[in-house]
Amino acid sequence: MIETKLSLEQKLDKLAAVAIHVGLGLKPGQELVMTASVDTLPLARCITEQAYRAGASLVTTLLSDDALTLARYRYSRDEGFDHAPAWLYEGMASAFHKGSARLAITGADPKLLSNEDTAKVSRANRANSIAYRPALEPISRHDINWTIVAGATPAWAASMFPNDAPDAALAKLWEAIFFTSRIDVEDPVAAWKAHDAGLQKRAAHLNEKRYAALHYQGPGTDFRLGLADDHMWMGGGTEAGNGVYCIPNIPTEEVFTTPHKDRAEGTVTASKPLSYMGTMIEDIQVRFSEGRIVDARAHRGQEVLEKLLDTDEGSRRLGEAALVPHSSPISASGLTFLNTLFDENAASHIALGQAYADCVRNGSKLSPQELAAKGANESLIHVDWMIGNGALDIDGITHSGTVEPLMRKGEWV
Ligand code: ZN
Ligand code: ZN
Repeated sequence: MIETKLSLEQKLDKLAAVAIHVGLGLKPGQELVMTASVDTLPLARCITEQAYRAGASLVTTLLSDDALTLARYRYSRDEGFDHAPAWLYEGMASAFHKGSARLAITGADPKLLSNEDTAKVSRANRANSIAYRPALEPISRHDINWTIVAGATPAWAASMFPNDAPDAALAKLWEAIFFTSRIDVEDPVAAWKAHDAGLQKRAAHLNEKRYAALHYQGPGTDFRLGLADDHMWMGGGTEAGNGVYCIPNIPTEEVFTTPHKDRAEGTVTASKPLSYMGTMIEDIQVRFSEGRIVDARAHRGQEVLEKLLDTDEGSRRLGEAALVPHSSPISASGLTFLNTLFDENAASHIALGQAYADCVRNGSKLSPQELAAKGANESLIHVDWMIGNGALDIDGITHSGTVEPLMRKGEWV
């Protein structure tokens, strides 16, 4: 066998091909709206090329820049933090309703806003969440094909590899992205199809079981989580409302469902720090009663955690339960990415806030009231936090009360 070492450009092109052909399943004639940071332009260019070669009618890219974001916190007048570009999100919503696909390149500096005024950060986030709703709805309801992929940025790399020189850190992050996104193989598109089939099979098995609740036990965790009525487990790809098959996260390792918003009891300890809107929240432990967080502690970032929990009525309740084996490539990399796309796929997790309508049977056809009646939570936020590790045991509890082992020491039984 001849060993060939691919250049960064060639690997970017492979990642772009996975993004367009596996992540999005972009159809000829479809428009694409992409968001990216200026630091991920080399990947955005490869993706744009792949999109046009796949027949895109138009690719529109919205660029962001860390320095521009910081300028707002340094120089904006106070009232400015309650503003958000509603006009832009209405335009995006309009594009989605007319059939456009959506791609996001994630690569944010996890500590970008850590030195800014937390009250301003939370006001800006809140205003943005409200304004973004019309654009988020067709995505969270899976009306359109969408996907998120990662691009390495210098600031993100510096957070992950603080002891390396900038160039070395950036190269290490790219290698980590290629490894965990399953790009480091002969035919990544074929590898993704096989991986997707495995996740589908796991979700189908859990859907047959129809557990009433999950019971989590591990260091600092003893937690019983009821599942929503008519909950559906999902994993890997899904057929969007527009008929296009897409895999919304590259990488993805999870199977996930909607818990019941009123049925969480007990104590949960996070297994990784949570990076929320530029702030690190560390060593989180919370206690649930009747679905609601009644006590929350963090050794670092307590103030931000409390603000997050006080966002609205639904932000103290759960909108997602996801199972990920401890041996996933992301976990195997041994890295903490400080980015939810990766870290949530390294470990089993739960999410505060908004539930996915798709994880309830016929959910995309139900009204918000009907979804709530089945136990699906509603909130402006959806924040994943990791609770899985190599010591976590999870049981499935049937409606008749039978206990069946699902995971032992972090692995599927
Ligand atoms: Zn998840
Ligand atoms: Zn989530």
